Amino acid sequence: MFRFRVLKKSKRSNARVGLLETNHGAIETPSFVPVATHAAVKSLVSELVEETGTQVVIANAFHLHLKPGEKTIRSSGGLHAFMNWSRPIMTDSGGYQVFSLGFGRDLRLKKVARGKNALARNDIIELGVQPKSVTITQKGVYFRSPINGDMLFLGPRESIMIQERLGADIMFAFDECTPPNASYEYVAVSVERTHRWAKTSLETKKSSQALFGIMHGSTFRDLREKSADFINSLGFDGFGIGGDLGASMRSTQQILKWSFDRVDVLKPRHLLGIGHLTDIIPIVKYGVDLFDCTAPTHYARRGIAFVSNKALDLRKRRFLKDQHSLNRYCNCFVCKSYTRSYISHLIRANEITGLQLLTFHNLYYFNEYVKRIREDIRKGRV
Ligand SMILES: [Zn+2]
Repeated sequence: MFRFRVLKKSKRSNARVGLLETNHGAIETPSFVPVATHAAVKSLVSELVEETGTQVVIANAFHLHLKPGEKTIRSSGGLHAFMNWSRPIMTDSGGYQVFSLGFGRDLRLKKVARGKNALARNDIIELGVQPKSVTITQKGVYFRSPINGDMLFLGPRESIMIQERLGADIMFAFDECTPPNASYEYVAVSVERTHRWAKTSLETKKSSQALFGIMHGSTFRDLREKSADFINSLGFDGFGIGGDLGASMRSTQQILKWSFDRVDVLKPRHLLGIGHLTDIIPIVKYGVDLFDCTAPTHYARRGIAFVSNKALDLRKRRFLKDQHSLNRYCNCFVCKSYTRSYISHLIRANEITGLQLLTFHNLYYFNEYVKRIREDIRKGRV
């Protein structure tokens, strides 16, 4: 079962509240989607992830194919049973790894080049250039395994077959996530290839799992529009928006508008790999329903807690004397029962429990933040 309904559309912006129903329960949108790359939200068991108010997680087909392999997961009854998570799951197709293990690794680039990740002007990737350890062909991509160095091939057919064996509720079509410094000519050719792969992804799918097509085109308006038109024409269950999103939030919003203006408004839209706290309201206002981001878990592992629009670095010595909770407005069990002093001590002593407490609070905080945005949309404030 897969059904999406828009329950409330804002009059002030393109924000909307929706309900996405799957065989594993419903997701109220807009929703944050925590990342569970290897079938685990780092440091938390699934029972605790559920207690953070998490509605859906996203695992990664490429990484699970390498370790432990989709056959192992299938023989355990699929991803839900394997990781003991009974709520909805998405799987990413491996398209992001074309970038992260390719040009991303070669040039030490992030998908979105902003601030300290901003690009040098002379690093433009021209048409015909290939990354060092990944070879992109018309049919798919040859990767060098980050585990044992073996060559491995992943194309749209392979990705969908892996994702079907994993058994997530929502799969993504295989795509090439283009680097932020690719030239117009490079992106134009890549978009055509991603479009062929989108068709093959749909043709390969045999299961009743939902499949989202991914729109590309980097920061080029005509390519974004062309990609939105084409992906919209294929009959996917929803849309992903991938690739570079510009050097500022303003340009991200422009890209969202170019894309969303041309696709079926009754289908859900997932922004891939974006969702720092400051990004959330600006993207939701432009019509994003779902977004995944590693920020809450990634920063927790570095000792950072998100509280009332601030980030506290619990590694700092001064927190050892701080008897307050992380955030007095937060109702999570960490904030009810533990002090900054204790958590700071755990982090400084490299105790795993410290990472768990911070991860729990950060996820709870993000989920509550997005829940308030849903209420604000309902009340006409966003
Ligand atoms: Zn808390």
